[in-house]
Amino acid sequence: MLAYEHQSDGIMRVVERDDPRPQEGELLIDVAAAGICGTDLKIARGEHRFYPPGTMRIPGHETVGVVAENRSGNERFAPGTPVAVAPNIACGTCRPCRRGLGNLCENYESVGLTFDGGFATQLLIPAPAVTNGNVMVVPEGLDLAIASLTEPIAAVVRGLRPLTITPDDTLLICGAGPIGLIALLVAKHRGVGKVIVSQTSPHRRSIAEQLGADHTINPRERALPEQVKDLTGGAGADAIIVATPVGQVFTDTLHSAAKGARINFFAGLPSGKGEIPLDANLIHYGELVVTGSTANTNADNAEALDLLAAQPELFAPLITATFPLEEADQAFEAARGGEHLKVLIEPRR
Ligand SMILES: [Zn+2]
Ligand SMILES: [Zn+2]
Repeated sequence: MLAYEHQSDGIMRVVERDDPRPQEGELLIDVAAAGICGTDLKIARGEHRFYPPGTMRIPGHETVGVVAENRSGNERFAPGTPVAVAPNIACGTCRPCRRGLGNLCENYESVGLTFDGGFATQLLIPAPAVTNGNVMVVPEGLDLAIASLTEPIAAVVRGLRPLTITPDDTLLICGAGPIGLIALLVAKHRGVGKVIVSQTSPHRRSIAEQLGADHTINPRERALPEQVKDLTGGAGADAIIVATPVGQVFTDTLHSAAKGARINFFAGLPSGKGEIPLDANLIHYGELVVTGSTANTNADNAEALDLLAAQPELFAPLITATFPLEEADQAFEAARGGEHLKVLIEPRR
């Protein structure tokens, strides 16, 4: 098969690989589409902890395809069945797993991180992933390219949950990358009062406006809290999601929050840069709820797939480029630039 592999010299190359052979319990998938994520760009830069120097592995964790061979014993996955793959395989027995936090599993395996992923013509799904429910049948009629948005949407579904958004709320989204824009779409779909998107790039601000943001602001023009207060009659935002890895933005959110607001630090900060000033009194006197979210569970992925099936046209504009596997270098180049939202590799195109 053809694959876009991280090779031992740290360079990603399109290479010929032996076809994977599914063993008892496993599934083999013909990959239809795999989205390029920030994680993959990090791998390509040689900065991902699961890809230390010397690693030979195929990334790609936002994968959809069609079952090629079913040795799982589960008849739902007959050859030809379209499937989306939730990437994180929780062990089910560690403490976080026992508490329903499979995304925080202490021994997790992950498609494209700890074993070969979806930037290839075929993807082998290990037995535990099949039994854990990582493989989801794509509802009939849902385009597979659009279904490849399941995983990033799952991350956002998880990130929005603690914000408990109501139609009375003003939501502030910091960062209009794919994640921030998905948060905008999901929040609008569910009924939110008003959405303010903060973003430095004018191109991304205009996309946010096209996708339904009520207001967009440039935090470089004037301090974020001032602009948010101006747009909310002095109250501040009721719900805030931080989808940009900039420490100053995290600090600013507390000053942009309404009384009783919920804030999710969705983004992580670069390692070693996590300590930032946060005014504890704003949390105390404002009864702010400050939380985080990371990765996603199979349940989050199932919810995301339902959302996509319900309104595929809502999310379709997020896919701005697709490339065949042979042009994976160009696909990554496109994903690195600021112009595109979601870039897909379609290995069977
Ligand atoms: Zn991803
Ligand atoms: Zn676990």
